[in-house]
Amino acid sequence: MSVLHIAEVTKTFSGGTHAVNSFSLDVADGELVCLLGPSGSGKSTLLRMVGGFEQPTSGRITIDGEDVTHLPPERRPTGMVFQSHALWTHMNVFKNLAFGLKLRRMPAAEIREKVEAVLELVGLAGYGDRMTNQLSGGQQQRVALARSLVLEPKILLLDEPFASLDQHLRERLREEVRDIQQRLGITTLFVTHGQDEALSMADRIVVMANGKTEQIGRPDVVYRDPKTPFVAGFIGTMN
Ligand code: ADP
Ligand code: MG
Repeated sequence: MSVLHIAEVTKTFSGGTHAVNSFSLDVADGELVCLLGPSGSGKSTLLRMVGGFEQPTSGRITIDGEDVTHLPPERRPTGMVFQSHALWTHMNVFKNLAFGLKLRRMPAAEIREKVEAVLELVGLAGYGDRMTNQLSGGQQQRVALARSLVLEPKILLLDEPFASLDQHLRERLREEVRDIQQRLGITTLFVTHGQDEALSMADRIVVMANGKTEQIGRPDVVYRDPKTPFVAGFIGTMN
């Protein structure tokens, strides 16, 4: 069943840039879809519109049948992790995670339990008292992921979350995120410009260029049978 429905969404910035151009996509419950494309192809703009950080010029976005096109981020069942983590450096890890739950007026004991469970999930059990600026880049991205997950979003939005990390760490985190995503069964949109990342993580890949879909399909199919010269060039094979 489709949880996220994006219908002919267009974003035209003042100045006339068509960042996203009549883009449509259905994402099934529990699916991880990678948006793959070169810099400037509209991936972040699309993700930001799903998360409510940007308004579409036209088109419609529904989640679980509810039209969320014009709802602000805090009223959407989405959680977003950005490339640069944007953690609160004046708060420790625990407080970073507890903040959103406090706003929801969750009792303190329940907050502690939930935060500890999520820290365990992302491999940071026992890190609650650390200040976030004392953590490594990889640990900070784990905290950013945990901060999204603790609010139990219906849809997880990840915008090149590992781009600033080294190759080795990126590969490790990619596996961890895929593992967590599958264990929770959380519907996920993952933006990347790295074809190896997309090929190794995704249930389906959307190859984007100029705000449009060039090809959509399972990783092995897109890899084996690129439908356009652009996709072939970008994925790095030509049949
Ligand atoms: P990607 O994430 O794939 O690199 P973006 O969604 O960031 O692509 O950008 C798509 C296009 O929209 C680019 O041409 C970019 O310059 C333009 N763009 C993005 N954000 C803005 C903005 N706030 N104002 C004007 N143009 C923008
Ligand atoms: Mg981007």
